[in-house]
Amino acid sequence: MTKPLNRQIAALPTTIFTVMSELARAHDAINLGQGFPDTEGPQDMVQVAADALLDGRNQYAPLTGLPELRRAVADSNARFQGLEIDAESEVVVTSGATEALAAALMALIEPGDDVVLIEPLYDTYLPMVRQLGGIPRLVRLQEPGWTLPREALAAAFSARTKAILLNTPMNPTGKVFTTEELDFIASLLRQHDAYAVCDEVYEHLTFNTPHVSLMSRPDMRERCLRIGSAGKSFSLTGWKVGYVTAPAPLAAVVAKAHQNLVFATAPNLQRAVAFGLNKDDQYFQDLAADMARKRDILSAGLRSVGLEVLPCDGSYFVMADITPLANGLDDVAFARQLTEEAGVTTIPASAFYDPANGTPPKHLVRFAFCKQDAVLQDAVARIKHWASQKDG
Ligand code: PMP
Ligand code: GLN
Repeated sequence: MTKPLNRQIAALPTTIFTVMSELARAHDAINLGQGFPDTEGPQDMVQVAADALLDGRNQYAPLTGLPELRRAVADSNARFQGLEIDAESEVVVTSGATEALAAALMALIEPGDDVVLIEPLYDTYLPMVRQLGGIPRLVRLQEPGWTLPREALAAAFSARTKAILLNTPMNPTGKVFTTEELDFIASLLRQHDAYAVCDEVYEHLTFNTPHVSLMSRPDMRERCLRIGSAGKSFSLTGWKVGYVTAPAPLAAVVAKAHQNLVFATAPNLQRAVAFGLNKDDQYFQDLAADMARKRDILSAGLRSVGLEVLPCDGSYFVMADITPLANGLDDVAFARQLTEEAGVTTIPASAFYDPANGTPPKHLVRFAFCKQDAVLQDAVARIKHWASQKDG
């Protein structure tokens, strides 16, 4: 066998989330790396999915999703973002936000198009953009404030810009973009006639201010493809049900990408997600309040062991500066050591950067706090014990 496989795909490393989860398993460590809750999502939703399996819902769903789920996505856009969405023509149900991202980018990008991305970034963005022949234009946020560098962002845009990929609330920083920042991005989209792929999977996990979608800002309705994930909104990450909301002409092309990627998503899960999206406001408030409490437990605990914890206003994640405990190790070596010796797994933050865009920070790791309170407390106790032994 001599002919090369697809070089870009073949050269990709295994995702850091899988690498660190395997390391956690090998060392029986508490896994605060890969972002998934360690409790089940709402039992009534699981029951709806189970009932639907026994209810003649086992053949292909319609290409763009079950009507009841598309209706629920449209209603949720109205309830939480004041957006008027046509459930028939402006919603596409996908197999997770990962597929939604791929389909949205496939719908937009042609080889040679510039795509603006903000670092640190979720690990599938760059490979997907590059695979489609897009040219990434990276703009880096600086810790600890992660404020948007407006001049650098403006400089990244040009007539060649097809789209920005914007993630708010942001993985891995926990940043929630301010309305002013969103409006600045909107002004650039208007000026350069570009689109926005809005990864809003953590839309229901903001802790200080309600989530604002770029799509809800003036003139942005026609330029945005907004992506949600039932995995995050209902703590059911294994279900892999996502949804794209976009103006009809864009949604029609997203649907064509979806027809070749997956075609249709599991119907019983779609039915249950429709049920979930129709839950009352209290459910969504409790989800965020619960997660804010977990952020506080973990952040206070990490501070008590001497780590500097960066601010976090949303998502499942906090970043911490490891310098006080790392003894000169970089983030990758420290994350390995913490798993092997303390029994706590994190994600080295350099994984969220493109080294071709300048040396990434090597002093940050990402902790997931979407875990039971006692597990978070145990993780802190383990780090405390390990740090005291190391000093002694
Ligand atoms: N975008 C971001 C920012 C994420 O953190 C994740 C991961 N969980 C995804 C997309 C993918 O979501 P899903 O599991 O629904 O594919
Ligand atoms: N989004 C999750 C995280 O950031 C991981 C999802 C995955 O492993 N693909 O941890």
